[in-house]
Amino acid sequence: MSYPPAVDGPERQRLVQVIKDWSIANGLAVRPPPAAISATEVDLASTLAMTAPVTLFPSPFSQSCFEEAQGAQAAYNELYAKISQDEEFLGRVVAEVAGGDEFTTKLWTVHERVKKEGYTHKHSLGIFRSDYLVHQETTPADEAHLQIKQVEFNTIAASFGGLSGQASSLHKFLAKTEYPLLQESSKYNLPDNTSSRDIAAGLQAAFEVYNRSEPVVEGGLPRCIVFLVQDGERNVFDQRHIEYAVDAPVFRLPFSQILQQTSVDTSSPRRPLLYRHTHLTFEVAVVYMRAGYGPSDYPDESAWEARYQVERSAAIKCPTVLTQVAGTKKVQQVLATPDANGSSELGRFVPAAQQATLRRTFANIYPLDTTSAAGRQAREWAQDPAVCRKFVLKPQREGGGNNYYKDKIPAHLATVPAEHWASYILMELITPPPVANLILRNGQIEQGGVICELGIYGTCIWGSGDEGILRNEAAGYLLRTKGDQSEEGGVAAGFGCMDSVNLV
Ligand code: ADP
Ligand code: MG
Repeated sequence: MSYPPAVDGPERQRLVQVIKDWSIANGLAVRPPPAAISATEVDLASTLAMTAPVTLFPSPFSQSCFEEAQGAQAAYNELYAKISQDEEFLGRVVAEVAGGDEFTTKLWTVHERVKKEGYTHKHSLGIFRSDYLVHQETTPADEAHLQIKQVEFNTIAASFGGLSGQASSLHKFLAKTEYPLLQESSKYNLPDNTSSRDIAAGLQAAFEVYNRSEPVVEGGLPRCIVFLVQDGERNVFDQRHIEYAVDAPVFRLPFSQILQQTSVDTSSPRRPLLYRHTHLTFEVAVVYMRAGYGPSDYPDESAWEARYQVERSAAIKCPTVLTQVAGTKKVQQVLATPDANGSSELGRFVPAAQQATLRRTFANIYPLDTTSAAGRQAREWAQDPAVCRKFVLKPQREGGGNNYYKDKIPAHLATVPAEHWASYILMELITPPPVANLILRNGQIEQGGVICELGIYGTCIWGSGDEGILRNEAAGYLLRTKGDQSEEGGVAAGFGCMDSVNLV
């Protein structure tokens, strides 16, 4: 039986119409691009939404790989909570990339400034997403053997937790109402996906942890959660789904407005963060960053001052600078690259049983330094016109569009001073099994081979002192699908689309 079911003519038209209406009715939507709005004669003043790109059918996904990824999330949450608390380790990693990476260096400077005066926050919140592709060996003998392999681990602004639950709900709805009407039938095994509710529960828990550890005194300020966002964010409904599921006052604050609308009350040694909302002032319990992950959010020094202001406050940060640095690709590489004894620094953070769980999901990743044998070997591979086709070259950046693939690697490295190569990592390409689907994007259907990237969300709260981990939960999943000719997979970057898993 071929998949997805063949749908043409009136069947396809009807399915597309149902998806369009369901998407808007249920907020599986984004703001239209500015160019599309300015093309209309009327000023619709941000009242327009459009459907988010989505597949017509849930994509087949290996059940055992899906379960393995979900099963690893608790270990990943714990791992990144522990790394976030290991300043010595992170400092070493930052030093390795510092030469060629001004952004990571600047982040570290914020940490050092706050460290000097002393951190005052008592807890941290992680809203994480671990991204995976299914790897299928290209040799026919191994084709049946599928493995889940991690693409990257996100510790800041991990997006689509709001929309991905809606994409799952859409496909569940279609499986109940529309797919049974099609001439070609198929089987559907669609797991629940409560990502927005679960991520909101993490924020809610952090809000309550803050209120317990800093009890409101008589006449004290009301408490709130602040979402730090980007100006002109088109993916706003993704964030709103999470906001609406939180039972606490939530305010959206553009990253560019931090210094205007917040202040740190330095009259108190705990340095609470105050948020001015028109005539009211709130004490900020939790700062959830959906901005601040890349250089474009820091156009000048005042943006770095703003980040410092948040960092030095008592508010629970999601994430702190240290947690953000823990999410760099360099950290992922250091954990994955075995030393001469076959182990890695992973052993510093988690017990043996969990190490095995995590290590099974690691792809081969190499440093590009001159001091390690692995680094010297990788520098050769990266410049070899044949061997480089097995790899992707990554700088320490987030948000899509920054990587160099296959034969573009040598040419790019040729433009980078050799002493800065160590700020990149070289990763073996993961080769997913072929899957076909149809994508509805901007009202048009794209049909053909696709690549599906699974993200598993997790929420984690830990104490700054000896308190350890207070919360460690998996929080639903994301399936992002792109055409198999596209190298990048970000939905917001315009290449990928929302999807959900049909477990096989
Ligand atoms: P970013 O932080 O920009 O999201 P990623 O490491 O997630 O960077 O890479 C972006 C995209 O590139 C991924 O979503 C995936 O589609 C593709 N990609 C990254 N690493 C690999 C890999 N090792 N094998 C195959 N594709 C990859
Ligand atoms: Mg990514």
